[in-house]
Amino acid sequence: MTDWLIPLSGLEYDHAENEAVLRVLASQWLSMGAEVEAFEREFAALLGTPHALAVANGTAALHLAYLALDIGPGDEVIQPAINFVAAANMTLGVGATPVFADIAGLDAPVIDPEDIERRITSRTKAVLVMYYGGLVTHAAEIRALCRKHNLLLVEDACHAAGARYFDADGREPNGEMAGAIGDVSCFSFFSNKNIATGEGGALATRSDEIAHKLRRLRSHGMTTMTWDRHKGHAHTYDVVLNGFNYRMDELHAALGRAQLRKLMPGNEKRRALTRLYRQRLQGLVGWTLPFQNYQSESSGHLMVAVAPNNDLRNRARAALQEKRIQTSLHYPCVPDFTAFKAVAASGLERARAYADRAMTLPLWPSMTPEQVELVCAALKDL
Ligand SMILES: *Cc1c(COP(=O)(O)O)cnc(C)c1O
Repeated sequence: MTDWLIPLSGLEYDHAENEAVLRVLASQWLSMGAEVEAFEREFAALLGTPHALAVANGTAALHLAYLALDIGPGDEVIQPAINFVAAANMTLGVGATPVFADIAGLDAPVIDPEDIERRITSRTKAVLVMYYGGLVTHAAEIRALCRKHNLLLVEDACHAAGARYFDADGREPNGEMAGAIGDVSCFSFFSNKNIATGEGGALATRSDEIAHKLRRLRSHGMTTMTWDRHKGHAHTYDVVLNGFNYRMDELHAALGRAQLRKLMPGNEKRRALTRLYRQRLQGLVGWTLPFQNYQSESSGHLMVAVAPNNDLRNRARAALQEKRIQTSLHYPCVPDFTAFKAVAASGLERARAYADRAMTLPLWPSMTPEQVELVCAALKDL
């Protein structure tokens, strides 16, 4: 492993997480129980949704979201070509077909609403949006589009815990929380996310019916759980669906609760560091810093710079690596992966250009302004 001078991201862990884990160990109850219930309540309160469900990881959340919406063979799910591969893998996993749409532009690497509309067919069942870097964009437009064509809306909000959407009309003065906008939303608490529990994820929905189905699917399709029987609320169960074991355990939920308390102040620090990055990189000729002109409140998950061309991006990444500064690419164009060879992928010019030219720079809440200056100086040296 390279010993990075400045890593891509870092954990915000201290005594709070230690105490959380010790509290669970002292309780002698490890599988889904009181901590998971409390984490779900607290996460739902953040989003303002009646329901949140903790699950094993973000990919499990996406899988259950599709299943709870009855998305399956014969259905098409329109989704962004620039995304982590999980949403597309799970689309194929339930037997449906991913239809990849282009991004809005190099300055907005999110699904293009106009391209969604062009790709709607009689088989389209849902649109999946991903809040790239933690910024909610085009939500009013996409929601209207889904209503008009009777499509379900799934949010891949894995980047966007704590993000808020403000539409152009200012109808919601406090904004709408990412995860409370579509029919079902999915979150990840993987180590590099804004809430980090190692592995972990969540679903949120406003629908009682969908929440009920998600709960059943999460735990083998069973009507009661070990925890209910432990509490004496039930002593038997039926299996009413062919479900999974996608539960979160108490240790991860306790970590999630400690992390949840740090989320909003952490996101604020991420936004402040992002502003500093933008100031320092403004003068780089030919480079694009995405989301310059959007007003919503980002979770500040990623800081990305888009080079004038592929060669310069590759040279920039190599130069930073030389200085032991870690960078990444969020993301390659999904349909260009080997496993998606059989899936149609035309008209994705902007997505492909983005994958060729983007690079993700280090960012985490306790990164110092001096570290941001170092990264920017290294880029400017080029
Ligand atoms: C992290 C992530 C996922 C997958 O989450 P896991 O918890 O790693 O399964 C899916 N989509 C996006 C956009 C992500 O960033």
